[in-house]
Amino acid sequence: MADFPLPILVLFVFFAFSWFLLRLHRKFQDKQAALPQREEYLRAHRQREAACHACGSKAFTEIGLSHGRDERRIVSCADCKELLFQFRREMAEEPAF
Ligand SMILES: [Zn+2]
Repeated sequence: MADFPLPILVLFVFFAFSWFLLRLHRKFQDKQAALPQREEYLRAHRQREAACHACGSKAFTEIGLSHGRDERRIVSCADCKELLFQFRREMAEEPAF
């Protein structure tokens, strides 16, 4: 085996691990962006009021798609963590100071 200097090996492992984490995060974000809109979800699961299709819970958690204040909201089940649907929240206008 080639005699590789340790700092270069450490750097390589660090970048490979970072690349892997970014890829994993990107894949998760793509999965969230592909979720159905709320109306499509209700229609697909024949529901009038939204409920988790996996466990039936009506407790949800909501996060922004790319950051906390993103108007594209991702809704998942608070009990079983299943990703459910997305919706767009109209943001209140910021006061123009
Ligand atoms: Zn659930």
